[in-house]
Amino acid sequence: MPPISSELQDQIGKRLRKDREDMLAAIHARTDGDTDDRPAISPMAHMGSNDDAPAGEMLSHNEEHLAEHESHLLADIDAALGRLEAGGYGICARCGMAIPEARLVATPTVQTCIGCQEEIEREQHTGRGPSM
Ligand SMILES: [Zn+2]
Repeated sequence: MPPISSELQDQIGKRLRKDREDMLAAIHARTDGDTDDRPAISPMAHMGSNDDAPAGEMLSHNEEHLAEHESHLLADIDAALGRLEAGGYGICARCGMAIPEARLVATPTVQTCIGCQEEIEREQHTGRGPSM
């Protein structure tokens, strides 16, 4: 049994795919034109096939930062889609408990339950991780 209903899975899958298309379109809209056809961010970059040549050279610092942000979002979306297809979507990546459906609907790319998210944020705020 998947942790979420197939209806919800369907709904979230559609939404993620649309978000992904929108983001790719936005990236293409910005990178087309004054650069060559090569998109600054490979949609596959997160899969470990990073180019050695830094595409960022063609971008201003600001655009580079934005592109980096987008590539993280894309990676999150891809990861969520992957989990939807492979199973395991809706399971907290940290404690293995089911993530409440309302949380998934609000933020389809979440990978952790609220409790773990709060812990992770606390760790990030201290900047040093758990102090043990
Ligand atoms: Zn958790």
